[in-house]
Parts: sequence; structure tokens; C-alpha cells
Amino acid sequence: MTYIAVRCLHCQSEQIVKRGKTAQGTQRYLCQNTLCAVRSFLLNYRYRGCLPEIKQQIIDMSLNASGVRDTARSLHICPNTVLRELKKKEAALESVNTALLHTLKPTEITVNIERAGEAEMEEMWSFVGNKGNPRWLWHAIDHRTGKVLAYVFGRRQDTVFLQLKALLAPFGITQYYTDYWGAYTRHLDPEEHTPGKRNTQKIERKHLTLRTRIKRLVRKTICFSKSTQMHDIVIGLFVNRYAFGRAV
Ligand SMILES: [Zn+2]
Repeated sequence: MTYIAVRCLHCQSEQIVKRGKTAQGTQRYLCQNTLCAVRSFLLNYRYRGCLPEIKQQIIDMSLNASGVRDTARSLHICPNTVLRELKKKEAALESVNTALLHTLKPTEITVNIERAGEAEMEEMWSFVGNKGNPRWLWHAIDHRTGKVLAYVFGRRQDTVFLQLKALLAPFGITQYYTDYWGAYTRHLDPEEHTPGKRNTQKIERKHLTLRTRIKRLVRKTICFSKSTQMHDIVIGLFVNRYAFGRAV
């Protein structure tokens, strides 16, 4: 006969005693490590969603474009747990790269604005049968370094651009490189605005990897994301983690 030591799911301690059963007849255990934060646990899958490492895996899998149901199946948890954990992250998201803001000299910044994956966004909504509700991710990139400065999601072009422009205010942007899109000429002074494809090509190469990954995620995310909120959270988490370098 083989014995497998029961370890505390929270602190890995082996000092465990049985402590009764749940109403459903599942064995409950008590961790005797006095430093353990949780102490009481079950070895049942239903409670796996409470574990820190499972919570981390939920986020990691989502950012790897794994759908809610796939994630739930792989981690042996309930799909609602996946949704709940993602929603919890919403409050922690930042739309502005504040870490970068604090290190940059404002006078040195010029900016390159692009609509990321417009085509993908339209295609994306067609998956859920709602082409009338396009969702765009816009972001602004530092012209020199290719780093993402800020991002915004939205529906209406001019409104969304103005939001992004407001987010960029602390950066003290002096020059905007854009394509010839109308919203830019309507809301930017000619002297701070350089429209034209040529200016964006250089930055696009530098930024290609991140852009490709975001586009891929945007495409994949929409396969499972039926709500604008979840869509924005997952992509927002991605930008926060990989473009802003934040631990989310
Ligand atoms: Zn413990």
C-alpha cells in the first residue's frame, strides 16, 4: 500500500490533522502550522479556485489566449471562478505607463499613435454576431523607444482619440506621428502633428513583436469573450504586464 503525504494547500506544511467532514462528506483537514494564513482546507477540486497558484494560472492562461472554459477545464475549477478572478483584476489596471512616465524627460518625447488591429477588431465582433459593436484598442507608443505610453478601448473614433490624448497629457507630447486618419487632423494642431505612413514604419518594426502578440490575443480573446468588459480586462492585463511591465 502506498501513502501520499497530505500537504497544506496554502503553506505546504505536512503537519496536518483531519478535522471532520463537510456536509457533502468531503474530508476536511487542519494545518497545524501556526504561521499558515488559512489553516483549513479540503483536497477537493471545487476549492482549488481559492489557491494563490491557481489564481495566478488563471491570469497566465487568459493572457495566453486560453478561453474561460478551457482554463476552467485545465485547472479543474469552475468557469465562474475564472471570470471572477479576471474581474477582480480590473481595478488594478492602469491605462498609462506610469513607471515610464516617472523616468522620462517630457521634452524628449514624441509619440506615435496607431489604431491597433482595426481589421482584427471588426473580424472579432463578427465571431459573436455583433458587427455593429466594434471594439478598438488604441495605444500610443514612444517614438524613440517603441514603448507603450498609454492605451484606451473604445467605440467612437473621435471620443476615444480624445481620451487617449488626455491620458497622454502628463507626458507633454510635442509631436504626434499618425496616419492620415480624420480624427487626428480634427483634434491635433498642425504644428504638433506629422501625418504619413513613412513616419510609422520605423516604429512598427521595433514594436512588431508586442503588436503581433496583442493582435493575436485580440483575435483569440474574442472567441471566448462575449462581453466587452472581459475583452477589455484580458487585453488590458496583457498590456499592463508585457508593455508596462507591471506585476498583474
Ligand atoms: Zn498551512
